[in-house]
Amino acid sequence: MSDSLIEKVCPHCNHHNEPHVVQCVHCGQRLDDATTLAINQQTSEALARDIESSIKALVEQQLDTNNIALLIGGNNPIIESGRRRLILGRSNLDDTQRADDLIDLTWYFAHALGVSRQHALIDFIDDGYYLQDLGSTNGTRLNGERLRPLKFYPLKSGDNIQIAKLTLHVYFKLD
Ligand SMILES: [Zn+2]
Repeated sequence: MSDSLIEKVCPHCNHHNEPHVVQCVHCGQRLDDATTLAINQQTSEALARDIESSIKALVEQQLDTNNIALLIGGNNPIIESGRRRLILGRSNLDDTQRADDLIDLTWYFAHALGVSRQHALIDFIDDGYYLQDLGSTNGTRLNGERLRPLKFYPLKSGDNIQIAKLTLHVYFKLD
């Protein structure tokens, strides 16, 4: 299998060739400059995973018990300090009713991905963090399992949270 990021797609047989070939290795079709270039899906996904795990390692190094971090794909992590209650949702830029606890996920295409304005709550109760779906339209999943609305589920650092179609990971350290 090719591990190049860019591939040349054969216009004749649709075979995905390495970027340096001048002839399709499958059918012999000449591949000129007009040949369609494609992004190798598996390679780009592997790169994205590498980036995400590097960021994850950095986040885990820098965390102390006062911080909680949210990681969305390969983006800069959202690190909140001294806060024990986070509402995952979105607001309008001119929204004056914005809740203090809101983590605004607007910039992560939250609206297009079906995230409700007040979608889910991460709350520190007694001795640990818990996740609650706030009766959102499209639901919340924790490590793939769908949550019942308004019920608290215990969180572990590194857990996968899916709010509607937006996936994130949560990291924290406890005393
Ligand atoms: Zn071909």
